[in-house]
Amino acid sequence: MRVLAFLNGTVADPDAPHIRVEDLGLMRGDGVFETVLVADGEPRELRPHLDRLARSASMLELPEPDDEAWQRATRTVIDNWTGGEFALKLVYTRGVDPAGEPTAFALGLEIDPKVFAARRDGVAVVTLERGIDPGLAERAPWLLLGAKSLSYAINMAAVREADRRGAADVIFTATDGSVLEGPTSNVIVAKDRTLYTPPPAIGILPGTTQAAVFRGAERAGWSTKIEPIRAADLTSADGVFLSSSVRKLTRVHTLDGTPLPDSTAIHAELAQAYESVYA
Ligand code: PLP
Repeated sequence: MRVLAFLNGTVADPDAPHIRVEDLGLMRGDGVFETVLVADGEPRELRPHLDRLARSASMLELPEPDDEAWQRATRTVIDNWTGGEFALKLVYTRGVDPAGEPTAFALGLEIDPKVFAARRDGVAVVTLERGIDPGLAERAPWLLLGAKSLSYAINMAAVREADRRGAADVIFTATDGSVLEGPTSNVIVAKDRTLYTPPPAIGILPGTTQAAVFRGAERAGWSTKIEPIRAADLTSADGVFLSSSVRKLTRVHTLDGTPLPDSTAIHAELAQAYESVYA
């Protein structure tokens, strides 16, 4: 099932053509997007997602998104969705003419069954070089590091590389050996009842799920720290996790072919802390 809505609130046939072939989102990946989890009929972390959409749009110098219109389109998709939990994509491109109207739509999509299996069973992950150093984002803002742009070809190529190496996902590393993020996720490490995640300033996306996990964990008595993580330290952690809206909190059970210490119990506790945010 899919549900498509435009920003004026109209529902459209997702099988019909709507996008011009010259759309710069299509031609150059010139646009931004968000993926929101809708569970129990509610969009999780909608405010942080819309704030991040506006921040990404500003980094690409796109017109400021119409916040109310995005909220309306989100509600339209939810109201027309007849299934269970789903993924809601908000897509905002430069449109056909760089000086003209952006292309904007909200699309509800089924969640891939593999995601449910990963949430339950965890995943094998490989570390892959991203070729950037932690200071690059600040030195070179034109690289758009930390913007959720539509240019995800590298991210998808990394997932294919993981598949070639017998893994399901990736943790990108910086040139100084520090941990960045996954191609579609943030990295969270648990050690001695403290959760760690790297700072967005090193050129990664500030995760809405990571923030929600930290909120829930703090309520459950955990400490949280946003600070650099060395890839070499991942193997000695009590737990390594990938977080994103649709996968929620997923346990990493194997890193670069080596099984990590069993983090099943910590994962269960943190997954519950995350869900408690929405109870
Ligand atoms: N980092 C990248 C590169 C992503 O694409 C995503 C989400 O898809 C995330 C992190 C996690 O963000 P969120 O938890 O807000 O979904």
